[in-house]
Amino acid sequence: EDGSNLTVAVRIRPLTEKDQAVIGGASNIIKVRDKELIIHSNSLGTDHIFQYDHIFWSCDNSSPIYASQEDVFTTIGKPLLNSAFQGYNACLFAYGQTGSGKSFSMMGQHLADCVDIDSDNYSGIIPRFCKDLFDRIAKLKRDSHVTVEVSYFEIYNEKIHDLLASSANKLPLKVREHPMWGPYVVDLTVKPVQTYSQLRDYLLIGNKNRAIAATTMNEKSSRSHSIFSVELCMSEGLRKEDNRRSKVSLVDLAGSERLGNSYSTDEKMREGVFINKALLTLGKVISALAADQKRNQFVPYRESVLTWLLKESLGGNSLTSMLATISPASTHLEETLSTLRYACQARCIVNKAVVNESPHD
Ligand code: ADP
Ligand code: MG
Repeated sequence: EDGSNLTVAVRIRPLTEKDQAVIGGASNIIKVRDKELIIHSNSLGTDHIFQYDHIFWSCDNSSPIYASQEDVFTTIGKPLLNSAFQGYNACLFAYGQTGSGKSFSMMGQHLADCVDIDSDNYSGIIPRFCKDLFDRIAKLKRDSHVTVEVSYFEIYNEKIHDLLASSANKLPLKVREHPMWGPYVVDLTVKPVQTYSQLRDYLLIGNKNRAIAATTMNEKSSRSHSIFSVELCMSEGLRKEDNRRSKVSLVDLAGSERLGNSYSTDEKMREGVFINKALLTLGKVISALAADQKRNQFVPYRESVLTWLLKESLGGNSLTSMLATISPASTHLEETLSTLRYACQARCIVNKAVVNESPHD
């Protein structure tokens, strides 16, 4: 036991038609060997080696190490559920450049079909997590009682948009901090659900609102963070003191790509700056938590809306996992290296590993 509460996994998506459509075609530059990921830089002729808790090879389903949606859920989603039933908070972030597989992993291939797990093999972590949650509740002892509440929102330009709100209420929401219960979103829609099919309907509504927002505002989907949260309240018998509460947040982060010189307007620049701020702050928070939790080191939760709201799920007794998603394409080398380093940094600080990346000579 290394005392770590951060698990870092990397998933490699298949080469897409788009990857192959570039002049000359992109080649696959990633290899996986045990718990090592090797990325080959064609231009430099060098290999970089990284280590993670889990590496999911999802490039070709003929491979013996191919990781399906179910495999990914079993390895990193199930532990979050166990943790929630024990009364701990938990969160999982999908981090990576746009098009690397964050939404595919978190939600599924098609936002509308992925909620029907029995008919869609491509359902992602969120629907599987919710389905399992109710399967587990059904198996609990007779005197156990669990209530489930869900919420679903987006953060775009540091502003919060409720994805479950009725159409009348579309103004951005504010964050406040309760002295006892911590940060929360004022007036956020929170829906109690008793079955998976009730929950499924809210997932559909939220996914639909996400898609609408993305098409009305150019490129919005790649620049917003979406947060789906499930809150459990568990009681056994009638004793109030036996009640346990826990919250699990499943987060599809904004694309990690640097916007570089490609933005021209002030608007775009502001978006870029804000998004980098949330991802940067998340990195800082994870590092601060990992450095030394006993010494009460300052953790800059409040530097971004995302980290502020997830304060209760980051650190302390909560379980945090990161799923870094990458493209295997040679054309994405720089962005992929940057994702691998971010993920590695989060992990190596926690586990105090000596070598996590070394040039292969
Ligand atoms: P992101 O949310 O990071 O921008 P997406 O999840 O939308 O990326 O994925 C981009 C494209 O790649 C989509 O067409 C998606 O279906 C496909 N894709 C991503 N990951 C996988 C995977 N593991 N297996 C098959 N297709 C994938
Ligand atoms: Mg996406």
